[in-house]
Amino acid sequence: MIGSATICAVVAAPQAAEMRRELLHALRRTKLAELRLDWLSNDAEIGRFLQWLAAQPKQKATLIATCRRLDGGGRYKGSIAKQLFHLAEAIRAGCQWYDLEVETASLCPPELLDVLLGEGRQLRSAHFFKRMPKNLRRVAADLRRDAPDAIKIAAHCNSLADSLMLLRFARSQRNIVAIPLGDIAMPVRLLAPREGSALIYAPVENATAPGQVLLDEAISVYRADKVDRRTRVYGVIGDPIGHSLSPAMQNAGFQARRVNAVYLPFLVRDLKDFIGTVQPLGIRGFSVTIPHKERILRYLDRCDPLAEKIGAVNTVVVRGNGKLYGYNTDYVGVLRTLQNRIPLKGSRVLILGAGGVARAVAFAFAQAGAAVYVWARRIEKAKPLARAAGGQAIERKHLRTESFDAIVNATPVGMHPNISQSPLNANELNGRLVFDTIYRPRETKLLQLAARRGIQTVSGVDMFVAQGTAQWEIWTGQRAPHAAMRRAVVRALEREEKK
Ligand code: NAP
Repeated sequence: MIGSATICAVVAAPQAAEMRRELLHALRRTKLAELRLDWLSNDAEIGRFLQWLAAQPKQKATLIATCRRLDGGGRYKGSIAKQLFHLAEAIRAGCQWYDLEVETASLCPPELLDVLLGEGRQLRSAHFFKRMPKNLRRVAADLRRDAPDAIKIAAHCNSLADSLMLLRFARSQRNIVAIPLGDIAMPVRLLAPREGSALIYAPVENATAPGQVLLDEAISVYRADKVDRRTRVYGVIGDPIGHSLSPAMQNAGFQARRVNAVYLPFLVRDLKDFIGTVQPLGIRGFSVTIPHKERILRYLDRCDPLAEKIGAVNTVVVRGNGKLYGYNTDYVGVLRTLQNRIPLKGSRVLILGAGGVARAVAFAFAQAGAAVYVWARRIEKAKPLARAAGGQAIERKHLRTESFDAIVNATPVGMHPNISQSPLNANELNGRLVFDTIYRPRETKLLQLAARRGIQTVSGVDMFVAQGTAQWEIWTGQRAPHAAMRRAVVRALEREEKK
């Protein structure tokens, strides 16, 4: 309805030259862009940019001009007269649409807008940066008063339920852009076009509203331009979730196998709020990470006995009847990572730590027939885990004299940013193989110490990919494209390491 694309690149920069660069980049990725003239540092820069735009060959893309004033939530400090002047210039320069916030529209007679901006199509917008308005119907009716070509409602969502309410409202309307704002709403925002919104915004470089995903990421990772009503939705829930590598990995798997599915990161503080969106959004499955791996158990209809024994679920499948089934693929991840490297049956394995991952590791080894030893900084934590896995707790003082087939670090010691730390000293590393479950960094201090002693080392990346491919297979029933998924994780980690 507003052009042929559903992803609208947001071009926003203080200098005309940067705006030009951003716009050219945007148009290589989508055919719809919003030009945030209010982000330019002054009237002269706006003039310079529009002059350049006017000199360009006629655009095949649809351009929306926005010069939002401060009182409407934008950056433009000039008068309404100047704002309208810039919008009129933008239309002359080739923009087909202009966005007019309700704050300005309410002060301008429609006849004046018609004379000044009649050549363009109007998207009349209302922004609620703090909370969802109580009466969306009234907001929409106010916006439609002078019969603009389309309306936009952007509202901050404190919960996923809020964001669903906004999209449900959008479904009942025509010619509407509905934007749930905020970090919690981010995944719903990416799904907005299939729920009735005419478009979603994705900034080229500078986020102009909270919870936005950059254009390149929206297209390359989430394929947001391809999401339709048939797209299967998966995700990961956690808090924090921003640094999760799972979206890059799982979406790479869907792309490699050409599965019409998307995997989204959900920042979840309130599990009940998330569970309430599973059915309405048609979520088919999700990963679970800190701090919900144990809490999720009470929401499940059924749990794999092993996951129940471990006491943690990292994978949930939503069956056709809406019922939730829980699994633990950390366990599978450990086995897949190590079974080709050492014979597990009859081996002696030392596990460092007694938390969630240590439990999955301990049960995986015990199930495979290994003798399990657990060291934890609090012996009272090590003992019950060792007992449950049919093994024994071990004190630190004995590590120098004992030897093992494998040593597994399941503590966060050595994890970014504390990369100079190691849970054990070099002389305590008496084993044939050392496996660190940490993957940030890929080569931890512990692995460096082990390598220096000539011991075979295994990084947490292997386990991360193995638990992720196991999830992918549970959800799709297909063999996972392991190499593509691993490549996505390694690339993401390499990018982080370069920063
Ligand atoms: P968790 O449940 O919090 O358990 C952490 C364990 O480490 C606890 O036993 C804790 O002991 C111990 N610990 C913490 N700080 C310590 C220190 N300074 N010295 C000695 N022991 C210490 O965490 P988790 O979920 O099991 O995760 C553990 C690690 O696994 C994470 O840091 C992550 O790097 C890694 N991980 C890897 C993957 C993968 O796929 N590769 C997946 C998930 C997690 P207390 O009980 O005394 O605090």
